[in-house]
Amino acid sequence: MAVDLHMHSTFSDGSESPTAIAAMAAAAGLSGIALTDHDVLDGIPEARAAAAERGLRFIGGTELSVLWREQSMHMLVYFLEPGPGPIQDRLEDLRRGRHTRNLEMVDKLRDLGLDISYDEVAREAGTGVVGRPHFAAVLIAKGYVDSVPAAFDRYLASGRPAYVPRMRLTAEEAIGLSRESRAVAVIAHPHTLHLRADEFSIGFRELVARGLGGIEAYYGEYTPEMRNRIAEICAELGIVATGGSDFHGKYKPHLAVGVGTGDLRVPDEVMDQLEQIR
Ligand code: AMP
Ligand code: ZN
Ligand code: FE
Ligand code: FE
Repeated sequence: MAVDLHMHSTFSDGSESPTAIAAMAAAAGLSGIALTDHDVLDGIPEARAAAAERGLRFIGGTELSVLWREQSMHMLVYFLEPGPGPIQDRLEDLRRGRHTRNLEMVDKLRDLGLDISYDEVAREAGTGVVGRPHFAAVLIAKGYVDSVPAAFDRYLASGRPAYVPRMRLTAEEAIGLSRESRAVAVIAHPHTLHLRADEFSIGFRELVARGLGGIEAYYGEYTPEMRNRIAEICAELGIVATGGSDFHGKYKPHLAVGVGTGDLRVPDEVMDQLEQIR
């Protein structure tokens, strides 16, 4: 059996509801899932109920963009519930910062001569937290680009003309707040960081000393060699090698629940290991 500990729903920038995701996970033969919507925990109760109905184990979480060594790092935080709390209270600030950023990105796109309004982007997001994949969908619908990757390459990615950075915690703050919240912080898809091979394990050591619980080794878009290498580093560091698909439904159509691009398999034991180190 396998699990999938990295998925996004309609509560952020995924196209499927938590209930639909749980159904897909059960159909894929998984034993457990985690919901990791960006900066928001509101989908967790629905996901937990749907997971229970299908006999799946469940962890509530989120995915944060944090700053580490002047780079953008994604951090998954596991074992969170909606409501007040050290990390929960900061998520509100992050969502406000995101909203300001989104308005600025609309202005930039309009300055570039594109006919786009914030309302259109918000409508695409529905009740979910608005993110760049929603911008991409509007740009596609209006014929400005023909795919999500093209929208990022041309306008939305870091360094491209409509990009605006958003408010971020540092990696150290995120780990500290996670611990205060009795949650486990894990570095997501570490290869998006631009690090030399030696920096990879040495650099992470200081985050482990602060309480980092794991690194995402079994990631949908990685080769078996990359997954094994990251899992080895986790073993050396004494932290958990986690994994997940980064499922977003139609916003990342090449990634499927459980299997990612096809060959992903995240061992069930990962869920036990996360519970143990909590
Ligand atoms: P945001 O949270 O609004 O900054 O947007 C982040 C989302 O955009 C995440 O789901 C990323 O996976 C997605 N994303 C970031 N860069 C790219 C890219 N180059 N191509 C496709 N999706 C991307
Ligand atoms: Zn996303
Ligand atoms: Fe990410
Ligand atoms: Fe993600």
